[in-house]
Amino acid sequence: MAKCKSVLKKKNDRESLNADICDHVVFSLSKDIENATERDMGRALALSLRDRLVERMLETRDRYRETKAKRMYYFSIEYLLGRCLGNSLCNMEMLSECEDMFKDLGFDLDEVRESERDPALGNGGLGRLAACFLDSLATLDMPGCGYGIHYEYGLFRQSIQDGYQKELADYWMADGMPLEIIRPDQAVLIPLYGRVENSILPNGEYLPMWLDWEDIVGVPYDIPIVGYGGKTVNYLRLFAARASQNFDMEIFNSGDYIRAVQRKIESEMVSKVLYPSESVSFGKELRLVQEYFLVACGLRDITRRFSAQNKNFEEFSDYVAIQLNDTHPALTVVELMRFLVDEKRIEWGRAWKITQATCAYTNHTLLPEALECWSVDLLEKVLPRHLQLIYEINSRFLDGIKKKYSEDIEKIRRMSLIEEGGKKEVRMANLAVIGSHSVNGVSELHSELVKRRLFPDFYEMNPEKFNNKTNGVTPRRWLLKSNRPLAKLLTDCAGDKWITDLSELKKIEKYATDSEFRDKFVAAKRENKIILSNFIRSTLDIDVSPDSLFDIHAKRIHEYKRQLLNVLHIIHMYLEMVDHGREPLCARTFIFAGKAAPGYWEAKQIIKLIHSVGGVINKDKRVKGLIKVAFTPDYRVSLAEKIIPACDLSEQISTAGTEASGTGNMKFAINGALTIGTLDGANIEMREEVGEDNFYLFGLRQDEVENLLTTRSYHPREIYESSAEVREVLDALYSNRFSPKDPGLFNWIVDKLLADNEQYLHLADFAEYIEVQKTVGLEYSDPVLWNKKAILNTARMGKFSTDRTMREYAEDIWNIKALKNLE
Ligand SMILES: *Cc1c(COP(=O)(O)O)cnc(C)c1O
Repeated sequence: MAKCKSVLKKKNDRESLNADICDHVVFSLSKDIENATERDMGRALALSLRDRLVERMLETRDRYRETKAKRMYYFSIEYLLGRCLGNSLCNMEMLSECEDMFKDLGFDLDEVRESERDPALGNGGLGRLAACFLDSLATLDMPGCGYGIHYEYGLFRQSIQDGYQKELADYWMADGMPLEIIRPDQAVLIPLYGRVENSILPNGEYLPMWLDWEDIVGVPYDIPIVGYGGKTVNYLRLFAARASQNFDMEIFNSGDYIRAVQRKIESEMVSKVLYPSESVSFGKELRLVQEYFLVACGLRDITRRFSAQNKNFEEFSDYVAIQLNDTHPALTVVELMRFLVDEKRIEWGRAWKITQATCAYTNHTLLPEALECWSVDLLEKVLPRHLQLIYEINSRFLDGIKKKYSEDIEKIRRMSLIEEGGKKEVRMANLAVIGSHSVNGVSELHSELVKRRLFPDFYEMNPEKFNNKTNGVTPRRWLLKSNRPLAKLLTDCAGDKWITDLSELKKIEKYATDSEFRDKFVAAKRENKIILSNFIRSTLDIDVSPDSLFDIHAKRIHEYKRQLLNVLHIIHMYLEMVDHGREPLCARTFIFAGKAAPGYWEAKQIIKLIHSVGGVINKDKRVKGLIKVAFTPDYRVSLAEKIIPACDLSEQISTAGTEASGTGNMKFAINGALTIGTLDGANIEMREEVGEDNFYLFGLRQDEVENLLTTRSYHPREIYESSAEVREVLDALYSNRFSPKDPGLFNWIVDKLLADNEQYLHLADFAEYIEVQKTVGLEYSDPVLWNKKAILNTARMGKFSTDRTMREYAEDIWNIKALKNLE
């Protein structure tokens, strides 16, 4: 067979690229060059880029095949990719060249890129982490690809009406996605529903038969993921659900053709829409089907690829690693067992060893409402054979425990895959833990809590399974591409090695007190702040000064992330000024961004509160413009890329013990923002790295929080009685100062914050937060001091590159190696 060897026919020089773009305008878009619009040029550029990526993707595939490399498959129900064109050009080192070329052609590449849709196939941190991982794997030349769902509608778009969030559908594929490649030839057939018939073979062997199932087709769409330098191109494979050709013969024969077609079309619902929260379990049938669809499509694809090279499934885990991004793909454990036992007729015990050696599980949250459980009734209906297998896995597992711990009934009850109370449910986290050889948390603190609080029994039994992999972010998207003024300065002063080795930025530590460097650092920040100010002025009609301190809180709206605490501080500053005549130490612009889950009433009210407080403060003449509040709607990757480089102060103020890691915190600090934060998630490790003098710490520690809550001894009313500042702020809320036309609107907040054992301890941390915010104001007024600290933040964030994170996973969990293209 002729081989597509690694001969790159497409050149990246200007003439070749220019010619290809013209070709695509004519032959792919069917337009004359003279009439090509900005959008046409963007598409033609993307198609020309895709040609180059495809060549390298084929070369990468050959390289992996020839070396029979072990591969890692990342299973994630979400990928928050962000725009792809600029990022891929950047990693191909073609961005500047393309900008010049477009200018000569009379187009502004920045504007062309702004017109690209921002695919939001994820909710927040978990999906964005998956995207950063893929970038790092390709950059490290590691055989690691992503598997996910090709949702037709991504996360809802957020618009604000009268201060309230309104959700709009996000039909992200409206203009097509020029970089993706559809692969109908590699479609897979997925059975669902039906029943199991238990039969016995003549030789006495048990043979379960899954019958009368309906099927859905999974069609892969590949998005090329190019590593920095363009040597390795991996892919993200997203499956779309399509109706199968197997029509329901009964309905068909009864003559109701239209109904038969309709039934089939309904199966396409599976990949229709992303569920809009990552921190709750939905318990809906469609969501369960989505989770199984991802797992089943992924495994069929993987086993087919494995079979082409090796018929011996006993060796499966020598060539395949699967990482479960949270429990959403936990059914992988069961589906792989079904495949090995039912289809490959491998003996149970050996199949179980293979499954455990293949799978590894990452836990992302300790919030109880996020722990997935599926009712036995629903599983029975959707996946009858899988439910049987779950029972079998459980009974063998519990037998083992009984042997080890004799008859500790409580322990057995806790460790069982089945929750027996009331409605019987399957605990997906327990399934993921016992089916995996590795269980990791995403920061040091979180990994400790995973062991101690979430899975103490499992930890006691298999301590060696549990490990930590602190999250990171990719410096390509979050510094090189999104903050070009700072990236250029860093490269000028420290060389460009930092792009693939972020610890190289240590080299700029020595400039922290160099006035020439500082001036340039300040100029870069100012350039970003001006861009954001203009954006806020033009989209929100709020006038903000780039000379003010930009104090930014951008992330999903959730009570545990404590946007409320931030608002209490803003109200406090406002009252200090207008009621007591005490001006703030520096002018501040408070910027918020974030979506609330559509069904999360409190979070949506918090959005309304931010707008109401901002509405009053922004137009109060007595404030003299010293405090401004802006809520930039529709937080997503492309907006984050605008906001983060312009930030002075990053708000990372979750209640200690609630934020597993955070990755927003890392993006801000890398871009030279100082953090005000609690000892939570990766904040702790960031503070260790940047130095405690360069981090504004406040708040209770996790053990103190846990102690207060478990002893039920947090009584916020006592704080209210003893603190005039707390009283003033809460009374202002209660007296409708920010809701004159809507009396009582925010009373619930006061009631909640004052209730005994309020879960997120807002008022317990309030006084210290206000105090540390004063220090922030004071130090911001001293630019030499402030910028020294900001520079040291950028310089010392090397640990938080996902390149480091991926090396650790590769070495400790996956056992995969880099495979460089040496040409
Ligand atoms: C990084 C990122 C997040 C995660 O932010 P956290 O502060 O870690 O919660 C969420 N959404 C978007 C768009 C992001 O880029």
